[in-house]
Amino acid sequence: MHKYCTYDHPKRILVTGGAGFIGSHLCERLLRDGHDVVCLDNFFTGIRRNISHLTGYPGFELIRHDITEAILLEVDWIFNLACPASPIHYQYNPVKTTKVNVLGALNMLGLAKRVRARVLQASTSEVYGNPEMHPQTEEYWGSVNPIGRRSCYDEGKRVAETLFFDYLRQNKVDIKVVRIFNTYGPRMRPDDGRVVSNFIIQAMRGRDITIYGDGSQTRSFCYVEDLIEGMIRMMDYETGECDREIDYTKPSLSGFPGPLNLGNPHEITIRTLAEKIIEIVGSRSQLVFEPLPEDDPRRRCPDITKAKDMLAWEPHISFEEGLQKTVDHFLKYEK
Ligand code: NAD
Ligand code: UDP
Repeated sequence: MHKYCTYDHPKRILVTGGAGFIGSHLCERLLRDGHDVVCLDNFFTGIRRNISHLTGYPGFELIRHDITEAILLEVDWIFNLACPASPIHYQYNPVKTTKVNVLGALNMLGLAKRVRARVLQASTSEVYGNPEMHPQTEEYWGSVNPIGRRSCYDEGKRVAETLFFDYLRQNKVDIKVVRIFNTYGPRMRPDDGRVVSNFIIQAMRGRDITIYGDGSQTRSFCYVEDLIEGMIRMMDYETGECDREIDYTKPSLSGFPGPLNLGNPHEITIRTLAEKIIEIVGSRSQLVFEPLPEDDPRRRCPDITKAKDMLAWEPHISFEEGLQKTVDHFLKYEK
């Protein structure tokens, strides 16, 4: 049984991007565990239905706000997730995507500095680009195209990491950086173009399954509940034993800022993913092959040794179980 450090002590927690796919699961878990949650979102890709069931919690507040603009809120922890995450959404207005990453990070770091909050950045495996090292460890610096169509997101997230570590060194802000690998689960948008939701929708509707390239590229998919547990453990983690008496009135540097990979190391090809989804949905869809998008990484798989050693964290939900839960969600809401 994992022992938390201060997580069991109720806090006011800001979740930016809280109406999105991952953010809504995070808000739900934090509320269930007794925290007050301020969900901030501009609803660019987030939807009200993701959080409508949370409005019954007395500790839940929703603020419509764009994180490229500053905001002042009294909070203990900040999870900074606001940013469109699927290629079609982040490429829709690439200049805005860079702004969300850079100005958004500056605003959240400025807020954390002012109110002495701990702040976690939802970074991404995209900081490794098309990796020459496999699996990717946190020490790898990445191979990223600075001028391509994915760059607004990849380089935006890289600058955000730089800002986080400069605020730690320069201003002693208590930061955490997690690099999230492909995550899937209920509440992914059916129209966001990401592979798991695309394939499920196509299979459910009996349409062709669109494989980009020859389908030999790989990804490693983590079920959202596993990811949330990892994010919370990282946010909560403080060096030293967690048994000691903690003075909650004095925020202090927690010791391990990251970056930390969070993902499922079970790597599969996109073609195998398509076949599994066809099987689970019980569909007659056919595979069709379309051109590979620009700078599409060939392989991606996290080395999660650090997360295992430091947080005793690893994913527990099998791909079959996670896919089934996701398919059930789509059958209920999206058919
Ligand atoms: P999502 O698009 O479902 O959620 C993003 C949320 O941020 C949405 O609710 C959106 O409306 C909100 N948002 C966007 N711009 C905003 C702005 N300027 N101000 C306020 N809110 C804004 O995406 P997601 O999959 O839930 O991803 C959440 C975070 O996790 C993102 O930062 C993403 O980069 C990161 N991440 C996700 C994955 C993944 O596989 N899902 C992988 C790596 C990293
Ligand atoms: N992909 C695909 N068909 C689709 C959508 C995506 O073959 O309909 C591929 C895509 O080219 C990539 C992989 O699936 O190789 C994962 O794509 P996604 O956009 O979900 O995530 P990312 O590329 O950011 O890891």
